[in-house]
Amino acid sequence: MSTQPSEVLNSMDSFWNDDLAKADPEIAAAIGKELARQQDKIELIASENIASKAVLEATGSVFTNKYAEGYPGKRYYGGCDYADVVETLAIERAKELFGCNFANVQPNSGSQMNQAVFLALLQPGDTFMGLDLNSGGHLTHGSPVNMSGKWFNPVSYGVREGDELIDMDAVAATAREHKPKLIICGGTAYSRTWDFAAFRAIADEVGAILLCDMSHISGLVAGGAHPSPFPHCDIVTSTTHKSLRGPRSGIILWNDEKFTKPLNMAVFPGLQGGPLMHVVAAKAVAFREALTPEFKSYSHRVVENARALAASLEENGLRIVSGGTDNHSMLVDLTAKDVTGKDAEKGLDRAWLTCNKNGIPFDTRSPFVTSGIRLGTPAGTTRGFGPAEFRTIGKLIAEVVDGLAKNGAEGDAQVEESVRSRVAELCSAFPVYPNA
Ligand SMILES: *Cc1c(COP(=O)(O)O)cnc(C)c1O
Repeated sequence: MSTQPSEVLNSMDSFWNDDLAKADPEIAAAIGKELARQQDKIELIASENIASKAVLEATGSVFTNKYAEGYPGKRYYGGCDYADVVETLAIERAKELFGCNFANVQPNSGSQMNQAVFLALLQPGDTFMGLDLNSGGHLTHGSPVNMSGKWFNPVSYGVREGDELIDMDAVAATAREHKPKLIICGGTAYSRTWDFAAFRAIADEVGAILLCDMSHISGLVAGGAHPSPFPHCDIVTSTTHKSLRGPRSGIILWNDEKFTKPLNMAVFPGLQGGPLMHVVAAKAVAFREALTPEFKSYSHRVVENARALAASLEENGLRIVSGGTDNHSMLVDLTAKDVTGKDAEKGLDRAWLTCNKNGIPFDTRSPFVTSGIRLGTPAGTTRGFGPAEFRTIGKLIAEVVDGLAKNGAEGDAQVEESVRSRVAELCSAFPVYPNA
C-alpha cells in the first residue's frame, strides 16, 4: 500500500461534490440564501467582514475531525503531526503580525479569550477597570449580566459629556481611588484613537496589569492604520473575525514570559477542551493574508472610507458622536431627528442596508430601543467600495432616516424602494465573492 496521501484528498478542489445539497437540502438552501443576502445587501455592521475563500476553505476542512488537546509538541492525543504544523504556523504568524513574543491561538471566541485572561490573573471579587458599556465598552468588560460583572468587581470609566472622548483624567482618578488589579482599554463602539501610552502611565502608577482588547481595531493595528497596543500593554486580546477578516475566533498576545504559563493554562485546561483546529488553521491563513502589502492598503482604505461615510452623513444632516471617526466605525446620534435606533435599524434593513441599533453616550432610551446606530466600513471596503461609494451610502442612509422622521416607524415606502434599487446597483457592481 502506498504511504502517500491519496491524490483525491490532496486536492480540496475535487473534495466537495455538492455533498451538502444532497445530504441536507434545507441547510444547503439556507446557506445559499445567506450568501445571496451578503451579496445583495450592504453590510455596515462594524464587527463584521467578508472572509476570503481561503479562510472559508480552511474553516470547512478535515481538521474538524481532529482532537488536539494540549499545545504543539505536548498533546494528549496521537495523530497531531499536522495539527502541530497549523498551530505553530498560526502562533508564529500572529507574533510577526503584531510584533510580540508570545501568542495563544486557541480561544474559541472573543468572550473566551477575555475569560481566560480573568481566570489567569484575577481571583473572584477582584477589582478591575473597563470602559462602560454605555460609552462603547464590551459585555465582557464588566457588564452586570456577564460573568466579568457577576464574579468580579468592575469599576468603569466613560467618555466626557462635552466632547464624548475618553476622559483620561477621570480614568486616572478612578484608578487611584479603586486600585484595580487589571485595567482594560479597547471597546466595541469607540471611534477615536486609543492613547495606550497614557493608559500605561496610569497602570504603572497604581500597579495594575494593562490589557488591551483590540477586537474591533486589530485589522487596523495589523495594517498600521491605528497605533499598536504593544509595547504599552501587558496583554492584548483580539477577535479574529472583525477588521482582521479571519474566522470567528479569538487570540491572546503578550511579551513577558511570566504570563505564559498562567495564560496557556487558563485557555486549556482552565476553560476549554479540544481546540477548534479547523478554525486555528483558518486563523493561520488570515494572519498570512494580513501580513501582505494588500492588507496594509486595505486597512488604510477602511479608515479613509469611514471618514468619507461620516462626512457624508454629517453633510446630510446627521450627527456623528464625538464629531467624527479615526477608525473603521462611528455612532450616529438620531436624537435630533426623533428617530430611535430600533426604527432606523428596521427601516435601513427594508432598504437593504444592514446595521445595528446602538446606545449613544448618555442615552436616555433602553438598550432595546436606543437613540443611535453603529456603522462600520470593514465589510464594504473588502468588497471594493471606496470613498465615492461610501459617500453615496451616507446619502442613502440619511434619506431613509428622513423618511422615518417624517412618517414614524413605517418610514417612507417610496424612498425605501428607491434606496433599495440604488443599493442593488452598488452590490452588483461589487460582488462579495467575485469568482463564486
Ligand atoms: C466582539 C468583541 C468581543 C467578543 O467576541 P465574541 O467572539 O462575540 O465572543 C470581545 N471584546 C470586544 C471588544 C469585542 O468587540
